[in-house]
Amino acid sequence: MIRIGQGFDVHKLVEGRDLWICGIKVPHSLGLLGHSDADVAIHALCDALLGALALGDIGKLFPDTDPAYKGIDSKILLSHVVSLICGKGWQIANVDLTIMAERPKFRPHIDKMRNSLADVMKIPVDCVSVKATTTERLGFTGREEGIAALAVALLTR
Ligand code: MG
Repeated sequence: MIRIGQGFDVHKLVEGRDLWICGIKVPHSLGLLGHSDADVAIHALCDALLGALALGDIGKLFPDTDPAYKGIDSKILLSHVVSLICGKGWQIANVDLTIMAERPKFRPHIDKMRNSLADVMKIPVDCVSVKATTTERLGFTGREEGIAALAVALLTR
C-alpha cells in the first residue's frame, strides 16, 4: 500500500529572530516569526506526512496556543509526527521539499538540511530531497516579507 501527502507553510520574515530551515540555522539578517522556531520547511514536511494518512495538520497536533510548544525546535515536532506514522505501521519512502525565498541563498546549506531531516526521520539521505527557488522577486517571497515551503511525502506499508 502507498499513500501520498502534501504540505504547505508560510512564515513572516522579521528582524531579531534566527532563521531555521530544515533544522539548520542559516546565517541571515532576518529570521522567521512563529510560536515555535518557525522552521517553515519542517512544518510543511510535517503536514505532508500527516496528510498522507489524513491525520490532520501540525496546528491540530501542536496548537500554537499551547505554551509547551513556545520556541520549540521543530525537529522535535517532526520526530513526534514520524513516531505517529511509524506506530501505525507505515514507512517513509521519500520526501521532496521546495523552499521559496528571494534570500538568502540556500544552495550551500542544502546537503546539511537533507542530512538533518534524514537523521530525524531515520531514513537514508537519498530519500530526502530539498530544493530552493526564488519567485523572481514576485509576491511576498519576492519582496522578502516571508518564506514559503512546499513538501510532498510518500508512505508505504
Ligand atoms: Mg508553521
